[in-house]
Amino acid sequence: MSSIEFTPLGGAREVGANSYLLRMGGLDILLDSGLHPKKEGVEALPEFSLLNKAPDAAIITHSHIDHCGSLPHLLRMFPTVAPYATPPTLRIMDRMLHNSVSVMGILKKERHIDDYPLYQHSDVEYAVKKSYAIDMGQEFAFSPDSELRATFSPAGHVLGSSSVRLNAGGRSVFYTADICAIDQELMPAFEYPDNPESIDTLIIESTYGANETADAVNYADEIERFGAAMAAILANNGSVLVPSFALGRAQEMLNIIARLQDEGVLPDVPVYASGLGRAVYEIYARFRDQLKPGADLSPLSQFEKVGDVWNPEVARKLLREPCIIVATSGMMIQNTPSAAIAQEMVKDPRHGILFVGYCDPDTLGHQVKTCSPGDSLDFILGAGPTEIQLDNIQSFHFSAHAPRMALQRVIERIKPDHVIFVHGDPEAMDWMYENTPNGAAKYMPSIGETLSL
Ligand SMILES: [Zn+2]
Ligand SMILES: [Zn+2]
Repeated sequence: MSSIEFTPLGGAREVGANSYLLRMGGLDILLDSGLHPKKEGVEALPEFSLLNKAPDAAIITHSHIDHCGSLPHLLRMFPTVAPYATPPTLRIMDRMLHNSVSVMGILKKERHIDDYPLYQHSDVEYAVKKSYAIDMGQEFAFSPDSELRATFSPAGHVLGSSSVRLNAGGRSVFYTADICAIDQELMPAFEYPDNPESIDTLIIESTYGANETADAVNYADEIERFGAAMAAILANNGSVLVPSFALGRAQEMLNIIARLQDEGVLPDVPVYASGLGRAVYEIYARFRDQLKPGADLSPLSQFEKVGDVWNPEVARKLLREPCIIVATSGMMIQNTPSAAIAQEMVKDPRHGILFVGYCDPDTLGHQVKTCSPGDSLDFILGAGPTEIQLDNIQSFHFSAHAPRMALQRVIERIKPDHVIFVHGDPEAMDWMYENTPNGAAKYMPSIGETLSL
């Protein structure tokens, strides 16, 4: 059997600029090409300096920026690299990367980050044009000279999201990428590839390795709790803000809200959705055949446009009558639509803010979650602090990542010879490492460390 080599360029002992170089079947394949969500400028890129030649191909598992955000930059360095992704991933990636150029342009001006933008709209166009769209389950080759074959399988995380299996020289590698083990409102759960027991090397995400509470969360109970919280705020003549990531969480929450309205749990108040979430929603509608069987995707026209959130008058108008607003960003980063709306909302105790995902400790969202009435916070840079009047701020667990026990079940089912942990904070990786049953050789390589297996 031939050997393989694995080198992380990012996303090792962190959720960062996820990108891993896999040398297999005589080819260099880059698994994902992300941008670090918490770093800025060139610091946010994977360690591309570790590449001493152009990779033969890049596989993009899904269109979250921490998995695809550096692809245009990679292609600027190495124009011959061929990217591969599923058709919905390519469509969404196109929108996400163009949005990312615009955001970097704004940050360059506002925060004087000279490196920005890391690439231009024309680089995004080149990357998308150069990419191959490969359907789930369809085996594909990278080069006529190599026996290496790859197959995408559903990862259950967001529309188009895939895990990937690679076979060559009697070896079989499976990279889960980001996986969700249960059905969500729209997305069907992660699926094992064919013959999982023949996989010898498993590369697995570890996001929730240090999260004990996620194991106990019941999705249906969480929806019930969320619905009751919204109903109580609306009954009190208040409005509800649901900060959500533009890809995945926004579409899932909008459809949960629409269903709760149909079921009479929530009154028929207007539901608003913000910009990028709407653009991605259109792609969900186009690829509705890839959603959960029976998923009843509401027409986008059912959700109203938020309008120009940078004009405080617009938010004030929205909040005059009870309504529900689903707006990016999920962590309520300063100067995003959710922050602009929250700035008006926190002045009135009738309203409520319901967080539906994780907020990093150094984000505005975390400050809002942990603040008390009377505290003041900065929502928009340069606008000055706003005093918090409302105390109805709640958190719900709606993750598109598998809890750690489910990740362990994946390892038990596949029974690989080698298991490599990626995409997790150090504590998360340590828990995964320590709790993986004996039998598999375990690895937590650092950035730049090469495993020869
Ligand atoms: Zn993701
Ligand atoms: Zn990720």
